[in-house]
Amino acid sequence: LEPAYSFMVRARLPGGVMTPAQWLAFDKIASDYASSGLRITTRQTFQWHGIVKRDLKPTIAAIDAALASTIAACGDVNRNVVCNTNPVESRAHAAAYAWAAELSEHLKPKTRAYHEIWLDGEKLVGEAAAAENEPLYGATYLPRKFKIGVAIPPLNDVDVFSQDLGLIAIVEQGELVGFNVSIGGGMGATHGDPTTYPRLADVIGFVAPGQLLTLAEAIIAVQRDWGDREERRYARFKYTIDKRGLAAVKAEIEQRAGFALEPARSFRFDHNGDRYGWIEGHDGGWHLTLQVESGRLLDGDEARWLSGMREIARVHTGDIRLTCNQNLIIANVDAAARARIDAIVAAHGMDGYRRYSGIRRHAIACVALPTCGLAMAESERYLPQLLPKLEASLDRHGLLDAAILLRLSGCPNGCSRPYLGEIALVGRAPGRYDLRLGADFRGQRLNQIYRENVDEAALLEALDLLFARYAGERALGEHFGDFLVRTGVLASKKIALEVIA
Ligand code: SF4
Repeated sequence: LEPAYSFMVRARLPGGVMTPAQWLAFDKIASDYASSGLRITTRQTFQWHGIVKRDLKPTIAAIDAALASTIAACGDVNRNVVCNTNPVESRAHAAAYAWAAELSEHLKPKTRAYHEIWLDGEKLVGEAAAAENEPLYGATYLPRKFKIGVAIPPLNDVDVFSQDLGLIAIVEQGELVGFNVSIGGGMGATHGDPTTYPRLADVIGFVAPGQLLTLAEAIIAVQRDWGDREERRYARFKYTIDKRGLAAVKAEIEQRAGFALEPARSFRFDHNGDRYGWIEGHDGGWHLTLQVESGRLLDGDEARWLSGMREIARVHTGDIRLTCNQNLIIANVDAAARARIDAIVAAHGMDGYRRYSGIRRHAIACVALPTCGLAMAESERYLPQLLPKLEASLDRHGLLDAAILLRLSGCPNGCSRPYLGEIALVGRAPGRYDLRLGADFRGQRLNQIYRENVDEAALLEALDLLFARYAGERALGEHFGDFLVRTGVLASKKIALEVIA
């Protein structure tokens, strides 16, 4: 008898957009095959945990039947392309999302092996197999994963500077005129190894939409050919850039693309969180953003997410979107249907965001234990224990409503983008974390280590002292991370705006 190996399966959902019918199909996959509901990832997609080996094939077939896929959701390829959460807020948002979807399709591996293995596709043999061509990835694919994100200022909800390739939509007179291009973001690091580090992307210029696919291909090709294939720790694009130099990488990209980038255009981000509650789109449709703690959708005591969203998906005529902050949006709701959606949301306890403290509204956590094999400490399961303690401390100092970005990570790989948290805990060992502080509220400055390898008592004590100072000394509207830098608690750090002329 073979042990009951279990797996995580992740869908590819460009921009995190799905139909209600797809939601119902994904929900059914969770109840048929997964051990712990649906989980929204920080790359705007779903993953299902605890899929027993014999159920892998039917799970992937069910995802395919729902007109989605798992291809390139993992592996050394371009991953799920993330995009601003609300493609219908304006015409420009719709255009930016369309480019995200096109990039995702264009950069998808072309191999038929996926279909052959998982979907009982026709087996390619002989000349047909020999003729199979992987034009971008070649025989060896990329040295490591590659991530693309599209942000539409003033919202940096995709944390565009954490992406290998970031695209910042430039909108003029309501029209999308192109994208500022940033390269070299990445969150992963290894404890105790200063040769590995999180890095924010550098803005290298501007590209018109019509040249975007060519440019993305050129960038990925440079990483394919120049990336480190000897040492996997250094195989991300950020290390290629630091090793070869930003100017040299930019020149190589332009040479391969066959055109030069224009100078970057001005832009400004306000914040990198989600906007909860209802907002109206340009076409009169309404969009409701709900906060899902750690992105975990289960039927619990306080909120019955699976039942509630099932009910919504059965009556909803718009679509449903996932965000990079692990939340969801019920999108494109007619004004007349809002009351019905609100009633379902309230009846299932899914409107917690209305009552939450500032820090709870801005908290995200990676999966970590028990399902992530790389985890060194708890993350998702620790968040519900940690938050009330932090809230008690904040409350003592009159800061319960202060919007503070909190990010928890079970290891330094950084799936929850912890290096962009104003407060971040990065797991070292069971019950022990590096306490990192001082990122900004817009995703443009990395945080830094404040206390290394500490337990809960030490990190709560350190934070309580800082909350006391923040309450008494902050400037009007000053965010916690900015306060720590301004007052010298932390050293000043470069923000991610370098532009090569
Ligand atoms: Fe696992 Fe580490 Fe990613 Fe958390 S950050 S999900 S522990 S790999």
